[in-house]
Amino acid sequence: MNFLDYKHTVREITKSASRALSALYAKFISCGGMTYDVFTKLYRSVVEPVLYYGSGIWGHTNWREVQVIQNKACRLFLGSASNASNIAIQGDMGLTSTKSAEILETFRLFLRVSKAYDTRLTYKVHMWSKDCSRSWDKNCIKKAQILGIENVINDTFSIKHKLQDIKSKLCEKDKNEWVEKLFNDRNQCNGNKLRIYREYKHVLEFSSYVKLVRNRQHRRVLSNFRSGCLPLAVETGRYTKPKIPLNERTCIYCTDNCVEDEKHFLLGCDFYADLRYDLMKKSGDICDSFNDLDLQDKFIFLMSNDAIQPFLAKTLYQMFYRRRYCV
Ligand SMILES: [Zn+2]
Repeated sequence: MNFLDYKHTVREITKSASRALSALYAKFISCGGMTYDVFTKLYRSVVEPVLYYGSGIWGHTNWREVQVIQNKACRLFLGSASNASNIAIQGDMGLTSTKSAEILETFRLFLRVSKAYDTRLTYKVHMWSKDCSRSWDKNCIKKAQILGIENVINDTFSIKHKLQDIKSKLCEKDKNEWVEKLFNDRNQCNGNKLRIYREYKHVLEFSSYVKLVRNRQHRRVLSNFRSGCLPLAVETGRYTKPKIPLNERTCIYCTDNCVEDEKHFLLGCDFYADLRYDLMKKSGDICDSFNDLDLQDKFIFLMSNDAIQPFLAKTLYQMFYRRRYCV
């Protein structure tokens, strides 16, 4: 037991979960798309039971492969490009990490065993292996110490109550980690590619557009626009060799000679002025002072107001279509 390794188990489990996800995606396509609620419900009932099978036993270690499956599911739903940031995708879908779910399952098993009758063999083994180095029980105790939930494990409340406490603790930790990653520039002089995303999104909870924008193509363009991976000059300049400096990634569709970033594309560029008209009119109807706002505030309003999201997605889709085919 001390020297067992769960990597083979996790590999097989992720393979099966990947197959389950493919089956779900096949249904998603054949239905012509699904709403967020239907998709997440099906994901939770078709893929997750496979993905977390036996996670009580192997979940105390962090497995990257498991998170990859969840990211893949989110990408399929949103239609994200391959270079879309996982942080933005996780943020838009509002899902907590798989690591938290695994740890929760581990503590569920741990608490169940520790509450078993003292005549049972599992309980005896549990008590014995608590003091063995590298044992599962010892690892669980160590994990509880790292997470600061020792007192929750040891108090006298019911298992259900304890699990709820652990869940909220893990959720809070997930949210903090997500914000940390969002603002982590890792010594990149221009900031990470989510520098615009973080101006209007700071909390790990689902973004309203995932529910409100029903059209798959519109949702795809909006999602990619938010995560900064539409092929605008600001993004494509990152991948050229040699890399184009940020201030030289200018827009070739108008005469403004400024950087073609998300704000210029959505609000500044004259090439799409007619397509933008309806969106501006609608925004003016929703917010009376919209026309008095400056460019930055208009952008934040458009990206964060719930009612405008379907129109925004539709307009972005039309603008992007024009940009690509110049029609
Ligand atoms: Zn332009």
